[in-house]
Amino acid sequence: MTAGTSQYAVELRGLRKEFGSLVAVEDLDLNIGHNEFVSLLGPSGCGKTTTLRMVAALVTPTAGAVYINGRLMNDVPPYARNCGMVFQNYALFPHLKAWDNVAYGLKVRKGIPKDEIARRVETTFDMVRMTGWESHYPKQLSGGQQQRVALARALIIEPSVLLLDEPLSNLDAKLRAEMRIEIRTLVKSLGITTIFVTHDQEESMVMADRIVVMNQGRVEQIGTAESIYERPETVFVATFVGTTNLFHDAELAGSAGNGRYAVTTNDGLRLEGMRKAGQGAPTGTVVLSIRPERIDIARSDQADASWDSYSPYNLTGKVAFKEYIGPVIRYRVTVGNADRVILVTAP
Ligand code: ATP
Repeated sequence: MTAGTSQYAVELRGLRKEFGSLVAVEDLDLNIGHNEFVSLLGPSGCGKTTTLRMVAALVTPTAGAVYINGRLMNDVPPYARNCGMVFQNYALFPHLKAWDNVAYGLKVRKGIPKDEIARRVETTFDMVRMTGWESHYPKQLSGGQQQRVALARALIIEPSVLLLDEPLSNLDAKLRAEMRIEIRTLVKSLGITTIFVTHDQEESMVMADRIVVMNQGRVEQIGTAESIYERPETVFVATFVGTTNLFHDAELAGSAGNGRYAVTTNDGLRLEGMRKAGQGAPTGTVVLSIRPERIDIARSDQADASWDSYSPYNLTGKVAFKEYIGPVIRYRVTVGNADRVILVTAP
């Protein structure tokens, strides 16, 4: 297939990277659609950056293949892959003014006329809302401004794929929240396929069309923010993305219909769970995950008979701690044998 006609913008096939005895990325398969915004999400050291760097040819895979627009890239050097990359520390050239930093990617491509370079630099500064700052050196710019210049430098080459490695982590919380919307809106309007590395679940959920949750070099789950949050496929995903109450070693107590099952926890609590998407009937011992906001809470003298008809799975407990965190109140409630603390959030 020729570039532009392939089904996927990026395909990773059995991609693997070993550093000595450490397997940083283990046989990763991933298809990314044209103009799709995909986030690699996971804890520090799970292999996100190594994966991104293999796409950019900054790290050589131990095994597997990288295709961009249907073309096998394994023997294609970094400058010829047409990947735009933004690093966590921006990696701007300190001795070059912002203008020259942005123009750099065009200058090293031979044969682009000077006036065309000037025109594209101007357009790109405008795109990242940095017009007027062209003559400043990186050290004269704020973190947010440097980040915009780094983004401009990556975008000016009109990359096939934009690779973003934790580009927001050096910014303060407010600016980070603004920039994530701005970056997503910009790359979507330009129609650029983007891979975004972060360990921040909220950033992933807000920005990405699909999230790839990684753990210890392996993919745990790939899906939309909603599917990952609502239907986690592994205990790791349930706990890494959001907060949850996990009940290990629960015993199945029978089917409640519609893919739902009654379970009894190892300390005798009766609860109900749904089976994982795409899975057959569970058997034996199971793990149950219940999000804190999915539990209703009321004072026991106000939980009248209507609660029993509403749900047969009422628990009685004692509020051990009440945390006011703004939009919600988080309760730590001891239930069952009192060693078990469950989290409940309520408006
Ligand atoms: P972080 O969020 O901290 O950047 P990450 O998920 O991006 O983490 P990687 O940087 O991909 O993780 O690293 C994955 C593993 O590979 C880590 O255990 C790391 O120590 C190791 N590693 C990465 N680069 C090298 C290298 N050049 N030599 C040896 N080990 C490496």
